[in-house]
Amino acid sequence: MGEMNILDERKQFIQIGNSSDGCSGIKCDSDSLSGAVSQRACVYCGARVVLNPITDAFHIVHGPIGCASYTWDIRGSLSSGSELYRNSFSTDLCEKDVVFGGEKKLAAAIDELATLHNPKVIFVYATCIVGVIGDDVDAVCKAAEQKYGIRVIPVKSPGFSGNKSYGYKMACDAIMSLISPCAKEGEKHGVNILGDFNLAGEMWIIKNYLKEIGIDVVSTITGDASYDSITKAPSAELNIVQCAGSMTYLANRMEEEMGIPYIKVSFFGIEDTGSALVRIAEAVGTSDNIARAKEFTQKESSRLKAALSKYDSCLKGKKAAIYVGGGFKAISLIRQFAAMGMKTVVVGTQTGKPEDYEVINQLVDKDTVILDDANPAELEQFMKQMGADILVGGVKERPLAYKLGIAFCDHNHERKHALAGYDGVINFTEEVNRSINSPVWQYLNIPTPKGGGLAL
Ligand code: SF4
Repeated sequence: MGEMNILDERKQFIQIGNSSDGCSGIKCDSDSLSGAVSQRACVYCGARVVLNPITDAFHIVHGPIGCASYTWDIRGSLSSGSELYRNSFSTDLCEKDVVFGGEKKLAAAIDELATLHNPKVIFVYATCIVGVIGDDVDAVCKAAEQKYGIRVIPVKSPGFSGNKSYGYKMACDAIMSLISPCAKEGEKHGVNILGDFNLAGEMWIIKNYLKEIGIDVVSTITGDASYDSITKAPSAELNIVQCAGSMTYLANRMEEEMGIPYIKVSFFGIEDTGSALVRIAEAVGTSDNIARAKEFTQKESSRLKAALSKYDSCLKGKKAAIYVGGGFKAISLIRQFAAMGMKTVVVGTQTGKPEDYEVINQLVDKDTVILDDANPAELEQFMKQMGADILVGGVKERPLAYKLGIAFCDHNHERKHALAGYDGVINFTEEVNRSINSPVWQYLNIPTPKGGGLAL
């Protein structure tokens, strides 16, 4: 791989340039390479990403206190109701518990919560150490359900038992355990929105759009969800899946076990937002809903094109690097950058699936670097060599970009403004422009990276 220090086993996770036959042969959707220090989080973190936004749920982290540091403060999401989910509870397992077992401590923690707070649902996360010592979390949760008549759902998520994607699956199983008993026979109506976590109010934007075109939303999974709303999910007519990486498994289970079909959509970018709304209207709406969707998307699209034209000269020709969690977001971002006159020179994901990389392969240029489960050293090398002007990523990538003197846009859990829907496009374009064209870059004294061809 040229002069770069890429571990041999990592080379199959990296592809330079789209392949001539249109198929991506990149290795993905497998465990991280030990020692490669990738950006991916553990199984427990993946599960927490999905379940934490349920606003009136209690989350008990059964493990050492360190695991409990992953809280609402790290992965914020907005609520229109309860704020309970902003609290975190831990059994704080210590050496004695590791030797003698932590089941009593877990039962005591559930007793305390059930007595003091009268919860409707408690999620109990089994972390690495619980997987090692073998506490029977299922039995403790079952006994608590019988004792208190509430839902106490085990989420078996020892960090070492897989990767972040496996955590999504564990969370989806927990959601199925929560909603399955609420499934009733009868006519289905409206849609569930799967895979938006309302980090900065995106769920509200999407719900408003659907209201505008006359489509009813039954429940949101899991952004701004509550116990009462999420347990209505089985009565929906269609699931719309935004974050396919985390929610396709749940959508498949709901289709098989509840007869609810699903479509995958994205609300990032003008093109994808418009297409999502029209497809939803076509799937469950009347001719009136479809006409309203087409009219609304055309009106918003024209409004945005006029509002964004002032950025054309500032952004045209700039180069973007993308490193995000799921494939659906990377695909939408490539399209968004293309619409802004920018070129994506590096693109990678933490949990992209082979079908995501097929689409990415078809969207990018011949010299674009595509990489799965990257580490900071690889990102640094490729961003320097490809001359990226901006990195779009999450909290873990921000310091890397700034140290390299590259602009940065947070498209993940630290952001405070919505990036979905039409207004999200304006927010995104403004932020990309502000960061790339900030006067601060002229005061940096960072050696210009050496150019040079990239070869695997
Ligand atoms: S890897 Fe294990 S110990 Fe670390 S946060 Fe995840 S569950 Fe906890």
